[in-house]
Order: sequence, then C-alpha cells, then structure tokens
Amino acid sequence: MRYVYDVVVVGAGNGGLSAASKLAQAGLKVIMLEKHNLPGGVATSLVRGRFEFEASLHELCDVGTEEQPLAVRNIFKGLGVDAPMVNEKNLFRAIVTGEDGYDVTLKAGEALFEESLEAACPGSGKSIKKLKDLLAKTREALAYNDRMNGRPNKLVMIFKYSKFLIAASHSVDEVLRSLGFSKKARSVLETYWLYLGVPADELNAFHYFQMLRGYIDSGAGVPEHKSYGLSLGLAESVLKNGGEIRYNTEVDRFLYDDDKRVIGVAAGGDEYYAKQVVSNVIPHNVFNMSERRNTAEKDRKLLNARRFGLSFVCLYVGLDRSAEELGIKDYTVFVAKKDSSRTQYDDDADLGVYVVNCLNVAVPDATPAGTCSMFFSIPVFSDKLMNGVEPENYKQFKSEIAKRYIADYEQVTGIRISDCIEEISVATPVTFARYFGSPNGTAYGYRLSRWDGLMARILSAADEFKIKGLTFCGGHTASGDGFGVSYASGLEAADRVLALLKEEGV
Ligand SMILES: Cc1cc2nc3c(=O)[nH]c(=O)nc-3n(C[C@H](O)[C@H](O)[C@H](O)COP(=O)(O)OP(=O)(O)OC[C@H]3O[C@@H](n4cnc5c(N)ncnc54)[C@H](O)[C@@H]3O)c2cc1C
Repeated sequence: MRYVYDVVVVGAGNGGLSAASKLAQAGLKVIMLEKHNLPGGVATSLVRGRFEFEASLHELCDVGTEEQPLAVRNIFKGLGVDAPMVNEKNLFRAIVTGEDGYDVTLKAGEALFEESLEAACPGSGKSIKKLKDLLAKTREALAYNDRMNGRPNKLVMIFKYSKFLIAASHSVDEVLRSLGFSKKARSVLETYWLYLGVPADELNAFHYFQMLRGYIDSGAGVPEHKSYGLSLGLAESVLKNGGEIRYNTEVDRFLYDDDKRVIGVAAGGDEYYAKQVVSNVIPHNVFNMSERRNTAEKDRKLLNARRFGLSFVCLYVGLDRSAEELGIKDYTVFVAKKDSSRTQYDDDADLGVYVVNCLNVAVPDATPAGTCSMFFSIPVFSDKLMNGVEPENYKQFKSEIAKRYIADYEQVTGIRISDCIEEISVATPVTFARYFGSPNGTAYGYRLSRWDGLMARILSAADEFKIKGLTFCGGHTASGDGFGVSYASGLEAADRVLALLKEEGV
C-alpha cells in the first residue's frame, strides 16, 4: 500500500512521542511508525509475576515542582499530558568502599544541598559558594543564549559570562579543583558522572553542572506511574489530536528522490510518503537503511568518528517484603570501590560502580502491598564485562552477574535481600541491542568526549546531517542523552518541521 501524510515520525521513543504529539497538536496529518507493540522505547515497563518493573528510569532531571515547574513538567503541561510526579528529597546516597571510602547522603534543595555537602566534607563552605555562583552564571548564560535564539553576542558572552565560558571549556574535575574542593568533596560532587557515562576528568563541566543544577533545584523527579505512564500519556495525546500510530511496523528503508531529499519510508512492503520525516532512530541505522549515494561523505565520516555511549546490565528484582521491613531507606544508592570516576570507569568489569534504586521509597505503592522492587544498573563501558559470553553460557553469565552484584550490595549496605527474591529479570547490552536495534546496545546514543562534547555538538548542530526532508530527534542528537533532553529534542524537531512546512506554504 501507498500512504501519504504531512509528516511521518519513525520510532515512538521519548523524542518521537513528543515530536508527534506537538505536530498533531498543530493540526498536521501525522503518522508515527513503531516497530514494537507499545510506545516508549526505553521508557517502558516489564511485567514479571505480580511486579511491573520500571525498565530504565532512575530519575528525571530538571522537573521543578508542581508550583514552580521546570523544563520536564513544562513539556508535559505544554502538550496537555497529565504527568504526576514526586520529587525525591535526597539526591543520592554514595557509598565508596576501600581506601578513602565514604558513605554520604546529599539532599535536594539549595540550602539542604549545601548543608549536607558541608557536613560530609567539612571546610567546603568557600568552594560551595563559588560553585553556587558558577551554577547561577551558567543558568543566566543559557537563558541569554536562548533569548538570542542560539546566536549570542560574542562580546556580551566574553564580558558578562566569562566564568561560564571558562567552565564550558574545561572538565568537571578541572573546574572543581580550581574552586578549591577537597579530593573527597570532588568525588562526592562527581557522583552523577555515571548518568552521562564519561569520567569527570573528561566530562564537560558546563554539561555536568547543568544536570547537577537541575537535580539540586528540585531533587529527582519520579513519575507516579513509571516512565511507561508518561509514554502512554504522550501516545494518547498524539491520538487525541488526530495523529495516527501504527505499532508492529518496522521501517526498513528511507526513500529519497533524485535530489537526495527524503520523501518517505518503507515498512513491511508498504510505503509512507510525507513532506517531512522525523527520525527517532539513531543516524547509524538510518544510514544503513539509505542507499549510499543519498548520504553525504562528510556525515558518514562523522558517524565513523563517533563512538557509542555506554550500555547497561540491569537487574529487575521483585522482593516479597516491603522496603520498611528490609530497612531500605534510600531511593538512589551509588556504590563504588574507588573514589575516582576514572578508576570506576576503567574497572567496569569489576564492581567499578553501580547504582541501585528502590522505587517504593519514592512511590510507596509502586508494587503490591508487602513487597518492593529494586533496580540495579551496572554500566558497561567496554566489552570487558561480556568478554567470553557465548550463546551457550549467556544464561549462566546473567545468573552469575546478578548473584555477584546482589552479594556486593548486601555486604556494603548490610541489607539482606537474596532470601526474599520473588522475581528477577536480567537485561544486558544484548537485550538493549535486540530491543532497540541500537549499535552495541548503546543506551546513551553517542559517547560524549572532549572533541564531541555538548558545547561542540551544539555549535556544529546546524551543519550536521543536513538531509533535506529529514530531522532527527532523541537521545542521539546534539543535546545528548536523557529523558528530559530526548523529550525536548522531539519538540525542537517539531518546531523545525513546522517552520519548514510554513516556508513551503503547508
Ligand atoms: C537502563 C537505562 C537507564 C536510564 N536511566 C535514565 C535516567 O535515569 N534518566 C534519564 O534522563 N535517562 C536515562 N536513560 C536514558 C533515556 O532512557 C534515553 O535517553 C531516552 O529514553 C532515549 O529516548 P529516545 O527518544 O532516543 O528514544 P528510544 O528510547 O531510543 O526509542 C527509539 C524508538 O524507535 C523504535 N525504532 C527503532 N528502530 C525502528 C525502526 N526501524 N522502525 C520503527 N521503529 C523503530 C524503537 O523501538 C524505540 O521505540 C536510561 C537508559 C537506559 C537504557
């Protein structure tokens, strides 16, 4: 069959959903094609026995509160989607075992954050004040940049926001050192590096501080009905506004005209033509679904140069006791053997660092009464962890890794969970690669690096993948990975498409 639309959106992950929702709201004839039987991509749930497990979300950043909403809540409000969320009061508990180890809990909210950091690392007061100024300047500089539509006056930036410019060209660790933080305070403050997947001595300070600021302001945002609740809300909004969604529809080809313009996609023998196509699918895969003559050499070179971001081994554990009975008080616990993010990164195959969430601490009724669930995320930065894993020993690998990390968690926290496990499921990079078709099972799009950090990407975004008729959205685009940014990238893609269609008189 041959179908014709104003816009085809490929993929119903966070970016595809927000893009389709906004485009449908604008009254366009939109269809979203999704290879799975449900929306959300990573933002989904899995059901085992009487447990519905959150598949991916630890925490949403930059949510604000109901009274003072920030970016993420505003996105849902703007799309008319009900997205009930709680704000977790602690940022995290970080436990570092071994030499120079510590057990620190940082709190959300500016005053409580400063108080808890000073209590954990006495003598940090002056440095905290400097950090606070820098975070405020970063926010002001970004607001100015937004007001100028991404074209700030260079002199204003140099004279008014010089601190921001300096921080933006250094790593997190370099900036924290320059602010005078002690080794321990740096290690504690750098805990969130895992959420961007790049060690603090390489990670861009501006990018990291933007995230840190978002968490300090209002704590972790946790949706009351898991991330799948948010995905369903967005999918309903697409339909409510007259858009269509076709599930179980895997796009296998991007269609181009003689002018190398994308004019549609093909899926299962059907062809969907459109004035504009939005891809929530990673460029690597789109290029593999496009004839080589239609893609630019410059873009292919960029894709070859980029590395993939981290993947995860995840344990979804359902326990037949409540969190209170087990003595679990923390929503997020980071565990590491060493205090430096570089060592944690290098030791990824050896309990380098992992994070454990107990959803019931934030949302008490997230599982049936008398039970609770735990979500272990073990980052996979290299192929060391899965070296030697073959189809015949894959099950054994999953079972051994689960035992190893659960035993470590029990030993480190003194909380015993292994004798009350009712359900357990293990996902690996292979699971993610199979589910999304993402290269190497990357969960975080392209790896951030010094040459390919957030600043560099934003500055060169307008020149990347200039393919007529095609706009990308999702965690693999310029702003990097994460729930908030992928929702925002969908809205940006929709705005671009609306502007292009307006130019064409649609
Ligand atoms: C374990 C884990 C934990 C995470 N924790 C957090 C966290 O705590 N906080 C945070 O902010 N971020 C977190 N993230 C990252 C976050 O989940 C992602 O950045 C975000 O969900 C990516 O959204 P996306 O728009 O890129 O879509 P994706 O989720 O990548 O979805 C793409 C969609 O396209 C579909 N698709 C692919 N190919 C085709 C095709 N050929 N035809 C049709 N459809 C296709 C897929 O099925 C999928 O539905 C985590 C990720 C993982 C994996």
